[in-house]
Amino acid sequence: MTDDCLFCNIISGQMDTDFVYEDESIVAFKDINPMAPVHILIVPKKHIPTVNDILEQDTELVGRMVQVAQKMASQQDIDEDGYRLVFNCGEMGGQEINHLHLHLLGGRKMEWPAG
Ligand code: 5GP
Ligand code: ZN
Repeated sequence: MTDDCLFCNIISGQMDTDFVYEDESIVAFKDINPMAPVHILIVPKKHIPTVNDILEQDTELVGRMVQVAQKMASQQDIDEDGYRLVFNCGEMGGQEINHLHLHLLGGRKMEWPAG
């Protein structure tokens, strides 16, 4: 938990955010500025700044984030049509919030290459 981290504040309940999923180590909530009809952020409760900071001991946690994304895709009924999972990392990767998060995007045809 880092006081000046927006996502840590969301996780601790200091910011009024509805969770679409929560368990002991992960939360998920809708992106405030959705880039697709379905845009959910899957966020570990542990403060990990970027993909570069994922440790060997976080392997299970990161795997579970993908499983939560799979569950959310099914719940949102986009699993059969398909969807995109994105980790932005660092400035060139377009990361704005320095607390690890997985974007689940769906409900429209995704472009490739991504912008
Ligand atoms: P990044 O660019 O770091 O990969 O993604 C950060 C995401 O967090 C952005 O898509 C942005 O819209 C979202 N976001 C930023 N602030 C908030 C907030 O206060 N609440 C929610 N729900 N999403 C946020
Ligand atoms: Zn944080």
